[in-house]
Amino acid sequence: MAIKSSKDGRVVAGVLALQGDVVEHIAALRRAGAEAIAVKNRADLDRVDGLVIPGGESTTVMKLLARFEMGEPIVRRVRAGMPLWGTCMGMIVVAHDVVEMQQPTLDLIDISVRRNAFGRQNDSAEVDLPIPALGEAPFPAIFIRAPWIERAGADVQLLAERNGHGVMVRQGNVLGTSFHPELSADARVHAYFLEMVAEAREAHVGNDRNVA
Ligand code: GLN
Repeated sequence: MAIKSSKDGRVVAGVLALQGDVVEHIAALRRAGAEAIAVKNRADLDRVDGLVIPGGESTTVMKLLARFEMGEPIVRRVRAGMPLWGTCMGMIVVAHDVVEMQQPTLDLIDISVRRNAFGRQNDSAEVDLPIPALGEAPFPAIFIRAPWIERAGADVQLLAERNGHGVMVRQGNVLGTSFHPELSADARVHAYFLEMVAEAREAHVGNDRNVA
């Protein structure tokens, strides 16, 4: 099944490809029916209707975003309405701030996150996570040195929690997950994000690809 917008064909989802698990996300987006490309520079960013920032190492990626001058164009597109989904490290990169750390972020969603919050014993855990927005069956959520959400602003929707802490949130066109849906066979979170992308494209927000 291809995710289509009624206007002009398939939506194009991008995965920020500076560091992290890019290939897995591209494969999962394709399985969920989208055209998916790696976003390595501004020209790639101009081609996409929505962007995923994958898991990886947040300090490294913030440095690379600055070095390749990609942070600002991403912020501009997202403020103009382009959907963005941060998984794990990606959610840290888009958060308002990181608790107990002086770490720069893109500040695109009003949450404060704690890095590596689930502790060493949970460095790699697969959890049956209830996510009501995705239906009744729990989601097989894979947590790898995952952050949790310590504070969320009033406009932030809490979509899932684990051990009393938010692990999936949405504020308008920005989605964040502490876990790694690209490593599960279950495509429901990718499909959820692609719906956001298709809707934004239909509504003609954030898809003026020249904004960037
Ligand atoms: N621990 C990493 C960080 O804090 C995130 C881990 C991940 O993305 N799997 O940047």
